[in-house]
Amino acid sequence: ATCSQDGNFEKGKLNPYGNIELSPSAGVLNYGQGLIEGTKAYRRNDGQIFLFRPQESAIRMQIGAERMCMLSPSTQQFVDAVKLTALANKRWIPPAGKGSLYIRPLLIGNGPVLGVAPAPEYTFLVYACPVGNYLRNGTQPLTLYVEEELHRAAQGGAGGVKAITNYAPVMKAIKRAKERGYSDVLYLDSVNNKYIEEVSASNIFLVKGKIISTPAASGTILEGITRKSIIEISHDLGYQVEERLIEAEELISADEVFCTGTALGVAPVGSITYKNKRIEYKVSPEPISDQLNSRLTAIQKGIIEDKRDWIIEI
Ligand code: PMP
Repeated sequence: ATCSQDGNFEKGKLNPYGNIELSPSAGVLNYGQGLIEGTKAYRRNDGQIFLFRPQESAIRMQIGAERMCMLSPSTQQFVDAVKLTALANKRWIPPAGKGSLYIRPLLIGNGPVLGVAPAPEYTFLVYACPVGNYLRNGTQPLTLYVEEELHRAAQGGAGGVKAITNYAPVMKAIKRAKERGYSDVLYLDSVNNKYIEEVSASNIFLVKGKIISTPAASGTILEGITRKSIIEISHDLGYQVEERLIEAEELISADEVFCTGTALGVAPVGSITYKNKRIEYKVSPEPISDQLNSRLTAIQKGIIEDKRDWIIEI
């Protein structure tokens, strides 16, 4: 891990993974002043290690820091720390196609603060952990449950940034859905309880004919880097993409539904349960989600040209 924390850690340097020191009155512990990011390092067939759009994570953290009244690292500092962490953990990066190294940058409010106010200091650190592919061969498509009682994000809240406080309130929804046998939760907007927003750690897309739709990023969903990339790839492949309000009722007539995220890539959805009815999606011989996923992974594997400089070789 790299860490700018006092105590056992040396600031601005690589440190072995270990505990960090926090004041009991740290802003992050008392008022949830914290942001996370998630990015991955991959290995190609030729052994080359690369990162996928880490600058986008840096920018998202900067936007989040502004929202949460924190100071964020610059894009350069962020990307350098991610690179350093990836290279230090090189031996843990699985062979091409077998997984990746998940990299977790963290920005937290530190130092003593008693009233609701920004913490006096901030700690930025990065740690990493190898992960397998989310969808291994034989894994079933996602089964989603539309949550009508618990919401992920309020209008004017922090749902649009990767605040750590967005995750604890949905654990109950995820736990309940898993107990009922679903793989994840699809959240609705908190004002009308009618428009779909996103899944616990991924964005959602619907396909109807040649049109691909996804909820507009208007402050209550996290604008995923995979989402952004898939929108651009969809345009490249000649599909029309609509970013708009999507009523949950539209799930019934969709041809195909898929989710996107750093952890799961592009993952097909097999069924969605809404108002106690299960909507099943037939897997067509050539689903659009497969085409988009193949394109994305081909860019990542260096098989097709990375014309937008998404790949950073390290
Ligand atoms: N929504 C939420 C709530 C998430 O936590 C994530 C994961 N970062 C995403 C969407 C997908 O974002 P990305 O494609 O950047 O991983």
